[in-house]
Amino acid sequence: MLRRYLYKFISIILLIPTIWVLFQLEFEKPSLKLMPDIKYIGKIQPLSIDISDRKTGLRKIYVGIGQNGKDKIIHSQSFPYSLLRKDRVHQVNLNLEIEPRNLGFRDGEATLTVSVKDYSLNRFFRGNHTLIKRKVIIDTLPPRLTVLTPLNYLNQGGSGLIIYEAHEEIAQSGIRMGDLFFPGFKGKLSQKEVYLVYFAVPYNASFPIKMNLVAKDYAGNETVVEFPYHVRKKIFKKDEIQLSQDFLSKVKTRFGSKSQSPDSPLEIFLWVNGRLRSQNHRRILEICSKTHQRPLWDGPFLRMKRSKSMAGYADERTYYYNGKPVDRQVHLGIDLASTAHSPVEAANNGIVAFADDLGIYGNTIILDHGLGLFSMYGHLSNIQVTTGQKVRKGEVIGYTGSTGLAGGDHLHFSMMVSGVFVNPIEWWDRHWIQDNVVTKLRNVGRY
Ligand SMILES: [Zn+2]
Repeated sequence: MLRRYLYKFISIILLIPTIWVLFQLEFEKPSLKLMPDIKYIGKIQPLSIDISDRKTGLRKIYVGIGQNGKDKIIHSQSFPYSLLRKDRVHQVNLNLEIEPRNLGFRDGEATLTVSVKDYSLNRFFRGNHTLIKRKVIIDTLPPRLTVLTPLNYLNQGGSGLIIYEAHEEIAQSGIRMGDLFFPGFKGKLSQKEVYLVYFAVPYNASFPIKMNLVAKDYAGNETVVEFPYHVRKKIFKKDEIQLSQDFLSKVKTRFGSKSQSPDSPLEIFLWVNGRLRSQNHRRILEICSKTHQRPLWDGPFLRMKRSKSMAGYADERTYYYNGKPVDRQVHLGIDLASTAHSPVEAANNGIVAFADDLGIYGNTIILDHGLGLFSMYGHLSNIQVTTGQKVRKGEVIGYTGSTGLAGGDHLHFSMMVSGVFVNPIEWWDRHWIQDNVVTKLRNVGRY
């Protein structure tokens, strides 16, 4: 009798730790997420790690870096044990900074180790283990660039081209001018791997103009390089536009429903000329943000045949109504008039980036000529192409009209460099292209 009780007692005594062991035994590894998904380590490299363990909880974290047999701890942490699972640590977000130079490492290959263990009794009480051992490249030096275009004469409102060489792999480069950034594109010239960046000096740029060539490598190191340039100031024309009752009622008929308020014809005009204009320009900027990675164009751009310039690039227009100035806007293209419904040709080879209604510009076509260069055709009566279509220089893409905010039949022609409106006259000019593009491309082999 006594023996039976003893057996029962012993088995209960044994059962408790067995249940406890089984309860503490699980096979789910801690989860780990590195941000960024690191491959390069820059001079001061930020690294965030999200670590979690749903079941038995975190026990130990180790983050280290090693090179040529030398290992350095970046972060090491142990977490307290508690009998109750819910009182243990299940989630940690580490925000680390690695400074490889301060740790005594050199630029080159290294190994990043992240090790996390939990409180499971798995692996003979050592816990589930998540281990990341990753080859990384320590790169603390900014990329070196050589500018291959020593002469750069630019016009206010004009375009420019800089060609440069990078002496290491670069992630992003281009020209920075205040808030503007013009991206550079990789290409091959005279057997050399080079970068080309087309950029613009906006018509309203404030002098002195400050711009730099900048490049970032994959480790995030940035180089800022000066290059020689000279910008010629330009004085743009001032123009006066008298708003007739007749024109305002046309504008009301066309845009009245869009302005969404029963305003007077003048107020509708002011909304179209101001708010709608900026909306349309934001859309153009967006369209110009995706471009072909190779140049598609060849030679000077075509100016519409047998046409007369009715308004110029960057003309400052003051709008008068009943003798009083009511608005002021800048005209960002050239108006060309010929006979009504004249054929409009593609100014150069390209891909149709947009072919639709574009507010104040009416029926509009935008062509992508590659490397950030675009041409635009507004107020068309008819569009003959569709988005994505390839067009050849001289091909008829539409017909002139007076759609949008146009008083009469004409073509509004604009050119954009990475979304910035530039003076099209340069791109029509064989000599300008020769001096500013062709000669520069040809000279690359000499450096
Ligand atoms: Zn125009």
